[in-house]
Parts: sequence; C-alpha cells; structure tokens
Amino acid sequence: MGHLRTLLKIVQAGDPVLRQSARELTSAEIREAEIQRLIEAMRETMHDAPGVGLAAPQVGLPLRIAVIEDKPEYTEKAPREALAQRQRSPVPFHVIVNPKIRPEPSADVKFYEGCLSLPGFLALVPRKQNVVVDCLDHRGEPRVIEAAGWYARILQHEIDHLDGIIYIDRMISKTFTSTENLNRFFGGVFGRTPQKG
Ligand code: ZN
Repeated sequence: MGHLRTLLKIVQAGDPVLRQSARELTSAEIREAEIQRLIEAMRETMHDAPGVGLAAPQVGLPLRIAVIEDKPEYTEKAPREALAQRQRSPVPFHVIVNPKIRPEPSADVKFYEGCLSLPGFLALVPRKQNVVVDCLDHRGEPRVIEAAGWYARILQHEIDHLDGIIYIDRMISKTFTSTENLNRFFGGVFGRTPQKG
C-alpha cells in the first residue's frame, strides 16, 4: 500500500514503433526528471509483465534505452542443469542507454526466447554466447558490460529492439511455437530442446 505503480502499455508486434531505429539520448537528457520517471515506469512495467528486459520502443517511445533485471525468483523452480546450460543466473536491475555491442567473435547458442510484444509464443533463436556492450547507465555515466549466456541473450534481444528488430527476424522459424504447445510437446522452456542432435 502507499506505492503508486505506473504501468505503461506494452505495444504489440505490428506497431510501427517496434520497427524503427530509436534515437540516442545525451547524458544530460538521461538525468532529466522526465527520463528518470520513464526509467521507473519501465521498471514497474517490466516487473508487472513479468519480463527480464524492456526496451523503450516497447512502451511506444523510440529512444535508445532499456531496463534489465533477471530476478532470482524467476528461476528458483527451474532445473539446475537447464540453468547451467543457459548460463543463467540472476542479474540485478540496471539501465542501458545508447548500447553498442562490440564486434567481437563469439560462438552462437540456441535457446527458446519470447517477447512481451508478442506474448504467448516462443522460438529457438541463435544468439552470441558472449558480448561486450558499451553504454551509458541511469546517470548517464559510461559503462562496459561483459556478459555471458542468458544475460548476453537479454542484452542482444533488448538492443535489437532499439534497431527495430524483433526476435522473429532471427528465429529458426520452424521452431516457432505457442507457449502452450512448448509445454505440451517439449516440456516447456526448460524441457527437451528439439534442436539438439
Ligand atoms: Zn522483446
């Protein structure tokens, strides 16, 4: 009680804002009250969904900003082995602004991935296993993020949103499935991965 949540509407696939290239923010803009309020609202909206990442174009704003958090409770019931395969461990809340992925070589890994702008569906998406990202943080300070596994996947997914790219552009399209059918036929996102072998 006493906490007023500001939930934003998450725009769905087909909205042109998800297909445009978002604009950069200056450090001064990031520190302005308007952007600070946006960050807080995006954080609330991501938690409510719930999701592990949310990019500004997903709330209708073509700005190069995204919020990320992989909470421990999201994976506490998942099999340890599945988490180890995905190199998935909790990531604290943080903000990335004007992120750029360094063009460094990395192996690709394939796992099921979904998107809050296309709820109820998933597909196998190849992503780089490791990325190094240069960005600004919530105070407009430069940061270098070195990420592996699931965190690297979240970063690539959110940064794609800033360039008008949705995971369906990168998915192995034959693996596209409803969440219900993934649960029914393959034991869910942490179940058997039919791409193996
Ligand atoms: Zn998404």
